[in-house]
Amino acid sequence: MTSRLQSCEVAVVGAGAAGLATAIFTRRLNPARSVVLLEGAKRPGAKILVSGGSRCNVTNTIVTDRDFWGGRSTIVRSVLRAFPVADTIAFFREIGVALHEEADGKLFPDTNRARDVLDALLREAARVGVTLVADCRALDVQRAGEGFLVTTARGDLRADAVVLATGGQSLPKTGSDGAGFLLARRLGHDLVEPTPGLVPLLLDRDTGLHRGLSGVSQDVKLTIWIDGAIGTRLTGTLLWTHFGVSGPVAMNASRHWLRAKLEGRSVAVTANFCTGASFEQMDARWTSLATERPKASVQSALATIVPASVAEAMLTALRIDGTRELAHLTRDDRRRIAHGLVAWPLPVVGTRGYNYAEVTAGGVALTTVNPATMESRVCPGLYLVGEMLDVDGRIGGFNFQWAWSSGHVAATALAHPEGSWLKA
Ligand SMILES: Cc1cc2nc3c(=O)[nH]c(=O)nc-3n(C[C@H](O)[C@H](O)[C@H](O)COP(=O)(O)OP(=O)(O)OC[C@H]3O[C@@H](n4cnc5c(N)ncnc54)[C@H](O)[C@@H]3O)c2cc1C
Repeated sequence: MTSRLQSCEVAVVGAGAAGLATAIFTRRLNPARSVVLLEGAKRPGAKILVSGGSRCNVTNTIVTDRDFWGGRSTIVRSVLRAFPVADTIAFFREIGVALHEEADGKLFPDTNRARDVLDALLREAARVGVTLVADCRALDVQRAGEGFLVTTARGDLRADAVVLATGGQSLPKTGSDGAGFLLARRLGHDLVEPTPGLVPLLLDRDTGLHRGLSGVSQDVKLTIWIDGAIGTRLTGTLLWTHFGVSGPVAMNASRHWLRAKLEGRSVAVTANFCTGASFEQMDARWTSLATERPKASVQSALATIVPASVAEAMLTALRIDGTRELAHLTRDDRRRIAHGLVAWPLPVVGTRGYNYAEVTAGGVALTTVNPATMESRVCPGLYLVGEMLDVDGRIGGFNFQWAWSSGHVAATALAHPEGSWLKA
């Protein structure tokens, strides 16, 4: 950092999606504000590059507070409404990134390259005059008079306002290693204890169905049982892997399993392989199958409902001879198959942890932030945006939308600080 950069009006710590958005929007809204964007890694935006299978699922056609877990939904709603999806699409179009829609409303760049999304953001940051300083980790942020002193390995930076955009702890090799949580805590914020989110689940080696099914996927409805009662139900594609289960529905379920464990609750997961069907419906279906096709084997009949390899694995686990004709299936075995189809236990023993997690659940408590400005309620002049807050979205572009929206809300307040007092 040169001596000319030793003070600025706005210092943004962390050049991921949320930090880049905050810095760009602040300068767009008020080119007179000096903005320095500090990034600890040598190259900014590493997580954008790996996102969406290196294609970057930028947002979703419909984003509401119901797509998120964590802090209060009214706060999430207010932030999303202030910078909705239409504004995100328009912004990316302006910076040269046209988006197209794919399954489940996911929006990707037309070029299908995350690199193009990051390059466009970096180009725009440079165009509007953001001073980006990479390889410059913030070691501490302290109050200094009316403003702040940001200590970095390359010198101190004085700033009137500081934005913490340091992300969570997922994929720590990208630079988001949770250090920002310590900065926030030192400045007086409560932390909701973090856990990984959107992470594959490990199943018990001996009792899990996954061994031999690696690579097979199917649509399921998962139920997460907490203390014996239904906690959460999620529908989507499940991917069997050598270690357990992955795919959108398992990843979405992971935060619920981990949060329940964190709270010391008893937690179990079952899969309905006939999304939504009840035991009674499945039992009736098997009864009529036996009448319609008495000579068919149990395994071939089951393979009309689930993938053939899953049918075989289920029957092995249930110790039912799959070659038996349907006409000779006992009532007890028929009912065990029907029950297995609607509530197959997934013996979850853990997750793959932060190194494989797409987000962090938990983080800085939303109640300590003013949702109209993203300014801290406990440390005026400090702003918090993005994944470091206690908000985590499901798979589908929702986490990036949170980054863009929270960044824009903060930028609006930072661009014209005198106006933000009115909203406080
Ligand atoms: C594999 C993977 C795929 C994903 N795919 C998608 C997807 O397709 N769509 C979607 O919506 N979401 C996706 N996500 C989630 C999404 O990437 C994150 O929610 C989002 O990047 C969070 O943005 P952020 O700016 O808050 O934090 P980050 O992107 O984590 O950025 C924080 C930045 O702060 C820097 N930093 C940290 N501490 C310091 C410090 N002390 N000083 C200076 N700099 C610091 C870090 O180096 C980092 O660059 C994916 C995540 C992963 C891991």
